Amino acid sequence: MSEKFDVIVIGSGPAGYVGAIKCAQLGLKTACVEVEGSDAPSLGGTCLNVGCIPSKALLESSHKFFETKQDLAKHGIHTGDVTMDVPAMMDRKDKIVKGLTDGVAMLFKANGVTSLHGRGKLLAGKRVEVTSSSGEFSEYEAENVILAAGSKSVDIPPAPLTDDLIVDSTGALEFQETPKRLGVIGAGVIGLELGSVWNYLGSEVVILEAQDRFLPMTDQRLAKEANKIMSRQGLDIRLGARVMGTEIKDNEVIVSYQDSSGDQELAVDKLIVAVGRTPSTDGLVAPDAGITLDERGCIFVNEYCETAVPGIYAVGDIVRGPMLAHKGSEEGIMVAERICGHKAQVDFGRIPSVIYTHPELAWVGKTEEEVKATGEPYKVGQFPFAAIGRALAAGEAEGFVRIIADEATDRIVGVHIIGPQASELIAQAVIALEFGSSSEDLALTVFAHPTFSEAIHEAALAVDGQAIHMANKRKKKK
Ligand code: NAD
Repeated sequence: MSEKFDVIVIGSGPAGYVGAIKCAQLGLKTACVEVEGSDAPSLGGTCLNVGCIPSKALLESSHKFFETKQDLAKHGIHTGDVTMDVPAMMDRKDKIVKGLTDGVAMLFKANGVTSLHGRGKLLAGKRVEVTSSSGEFSEYEAENVILAAGSKSVDIPPAPLTDDLIVDSTGALEFQETPKRLGVIGAGVIGLELGSVWNYLGSEVVILEAQDRFLPMTDQRLAKEANKIMSRQGLDIRLGARVMGTEIKDNEVIVSYQDSSGDQELAVDKLIVAVGRTPSTDGLVAPDAGITLDERGCIFVNEYCETAVPGIYAVGDIVRGPMLAHKGSEEGIMVAERICGHKAQVDFGRIPSVIYTHPELAWVGKTEEEVKATGEPYKVGQFPFAAIGRALAAGEAEGFVRIIADEATDRIVGVHIIGPQASELIAQAVIALEFGSSSEDLALTVFAHPTFSEAIHEAALAVDGQAIHMANKRKKKK
């Protein structure tokens, strides 16, 4: 007879492994299936192995190099020639990844989660088949199955990947030297983060973006400021540029694209394709398992991540909503709680987003464009880091905080930050939204001086024209 679990999770990314740990913590007999890894499962999914963590390691290293070359002299520090050892940077990144993926294995052990190595597939009747790399099948039964197989990079016919010249985001984390000329297709989060890494290391980077609008999902004032700063840092961002084809000639990539002036060509040494990610559903569920996909190829679920089959759930990148690790983790926790009969839910309107360039962009809640479209009157307070002492002392005074509040109730509906440590500062805004704060609540809160956070305080004051460290010009928006 096949072994039976209370819960089998397929996929060990931030949605799957967090869900599995929570299930085990709640006393459920839990297994987690992961296909990646040679001898043992490599846990942590895209985020830990080839996504959030390695890209942040490279962003840190590359920005330190950039800062050392560009900024240290302003502090009176003279370094002489600064050189970059790219393989050493990659080694450091690999060690961080290994430490974290091993850490998840330890957490599984400590919580009693059974780790199954192989490709998991949901069969009818809540059975899970696991196929090992050598092709052996094992079958398990479960009261509940959580599908958390994540997503993979989208390929586009005009730019088929090659071994080393045309790569996706995973390949771009493995370059062993800085390309002199780098092309990036797509000015989304991945294109901007990876484009920035190689720009900081000295590549001439051209980003080709099909849409005319830069970062359409962000508040457009943030997008405009980001475009200005990134362009000044050296990124050549070409909007309205649709890639039509690529050709490899003499070890360089010739990219053909169309923009408003017609057909264009660009020659680069490496090309990164960063045009989005798609849910990994191939072969994940048997046709008779009763699971349906939505129009985007995501597993169809309701707000509680329940599929049409009782006891089968799906979480993370494989379902609707933003492809963000923290959104997946919260869904994993919610499902674990709900399996135990608890009334858990995720508030999808309060999930923060971050772009980890320098400066960072971070936001939560509605953009001004979204608020305007509702027709409800609103008010806005904006405060620049250039008027924050701590930001000036740190030499990181670019950007601003923007707070949008409902005109009638003063309740905060959106916070948008571009500037130093925006990824950390945004947590204050998430907490404010979670507690239903008004801009006055934030304005009446004491913030330590001197800190970057004071920009949030001042922006909250500015909502009602009461900022202290700038001249107020309160505009009522109708
Ligand atoms: P994306 O969808 O955010 O951006 C892809 C861009 O490529 C789009 O703007 C699109 O218009 C453009 N594009 C598509 N085809 C094109 C063509 N032929 N020519 C030129 N441009 C073209 O996708 P992404 O940046 O690959 O990110 C994928 C997912 O991963 C997103 O959901 C993102 O949120 C997530 N992610 C998040 C983080 C983070 O939170 N910091 C980091 C990495 C990835």
